[in-house]
Amino acid sequence: MTLPDGVERRTFGGDDRLATKGHPVYGEPTDGDWRCWDARRSKLAAMLEHGMDTGLDGGETVLYLGAASGTTVSHVADFSGPTYAVEFAPRPTRDLLDAVDARENLFPLLKDARKPETYAHVVESDVEVLVQDVATRGQARVACENARFLREDGRLLLAIKARSEDVASDPETVFERALDTLREGYEIIETRRLEPFHVDHLGVVAVPRK
Ligand code: SAM
Repeated sequence: MTLPDGVERRTFGGDDRLATKGHPVYGEPTDGDWRCWDARRSKLAAMLEHGMDTGLDGGETVLYLGAASGTTVSHVADFSGPTYAVEFAPRPTRDLLDAVDARENLFPLLKDARKPETYAHVVESDVEVLVQDVATRGQARVACENARFLREDGRLLLAIKARSEDVASDPETVFERALDTLREGYEIIETRRLEPFHVDHLGVVAVPRK
């Protein structure tokens, strides 16, 4: 597995885990300056654990949709350049501010990811990586609407939660439907189910359609 610069494997409590260097945010285990990045708590970490071709080198400009209280985006900011964190729920955004305090490159945006025009004046238009974990209906459509921020050679790293789209249908059917929508804006490079870390989630790597 190729890890981005700034992400390493380290041992926490006898277990081999991913880790980034930064100020702790949510009570995660630490080892000196390193903080455990547990794939069971982060879809992006699960994509890395599965060896998906994320294209992350470290140091990229990132737009992160669905930041919640900052668990994953704080790790992303540890190894990235400017990191814009979009979250529309005020409660988790308050906790996200603790992660922001310790990171000069992490910028919180209390915005709705379905309305990219409301943050287009803040986010740079040549984002190298769009990470999305919104776990809401219409996940593929949100990714398509935010493709406008991505550079031509940028990447989308998306987690699709089947149950957020449709609780009744077979997850594989839900994923196929979401991928069909995604193809309107992206060329899909790789997909992978995120079990055992996250049940009924699909990890997707895609590039903007030319
Ligand atoms: N990515 C987070 C992590 O790993 O630390 C967990 C994200 S949680 C699964 C999904 C988050 O997306 C929730 O906090 C939810 O409020 C947020 N969300 C859902 N729809 C959204 C939207 N349209 N705009 C912004 N945030 C949204």
